[in-house]
Amino acid sequence: MTTTADCIFCKIAQGQIPCKKIYEDEDFIAFHDINPRAPIHLLVIPKLHIESLQHVDASHRDLLGKMLVLAPQLAAENGASEGFKTLINTGPAGGQEVYHLHLHILGGRPTA
Ligand code: 5GP
Ligand code: ZN
Repeated sequence: MTTTADCIFCKIAQGQIPCKKIYEDEDFIAFHDINPRAPIHLLVIPKLHIESLQHVDASHRDLLGKMLVLAPQLAAENGASEGFKTLINTGPAGGQEVYHLHLHILGGRPTA
């Protein structure tokens, strides 16, 4: 189980690990994925360490709503004018690699 101390995305959120940052506010930071799977591949993470979508509860409603509202704005600002795909991998069976909740935004060409 990942804790904030050894969480790579917490370190990015705290500025301890560099990233190609595209957005930041009091609750979120967004940056380019280090291993892009599409011409535009952005990650949006809450600054709050939540391990995965399996770890959310009602107290996270506003935060998660804000994250989804942010997605089309960041997609548009970063060139995904023809639409985009959003993805949240969750848990081992969901292919999650980094156990800090994050939203993928993929664009720039049709994705399967
Ligand atoms: P997951 O499979 O957990 O949904 O996706 C994790 C994503 O984080 C992967 O697409 C991976 O390329 C990206 N990633 C992992 N480590 C780093 C990093 O240090 N910096 C950035 N920018 N992206 C990372
Ligand atoms: Zn974290």
